[in-house]
Amino acid sequence: MARKRKLDLNKYKQTLEEKRAEIAENIKRLEGESSGRDRLSREVAQQDFEGGGDAALQAMTRSQNAAMIGNLRDMLLTIDEALYNIEDGTYGVCEVCSKNIPKKRLEALPEATMCTKCHTQFGPR
Ligand SMILES: [Zn+2]
Repeated sequence: MARKRKLDLNKYKQTLEEKRAEIAENIKRLEGESSGRDRLSREVAQQDFEGGGDAALQAMTRSQNAAMIGNLRDMLLTIDEALYNIEDGTYGVCEVCSKNIPKKRLEALPEATMCTKCHTQFGPR
């Protein structure tokens, strides 16, 4: 088990909560965009577009959006986990090897729940 060290938890918590809000906002926007594009594509198809290739493009954009939304949801989960760890008092400790995650890594990636070494080996999940 890692030795306790002093981390400015409030600072990380604030950063994580800001990031969380930002990601939630992005998900909302992407979801809105997907349905908005559906509407638009129907309207455009009725007007002057030839359809075919455009519909394929729409489908591609939709699946790209879906993939992006999936990634963002994963990030939300990771952030939730980090926030939980802050409450739990285990924040900044690698969930795999139980060593302290270097402060430098936490500064760059406050949602990190694994040290760089374990992340390279096991992550991203
Ligand atoms: Zn580790």
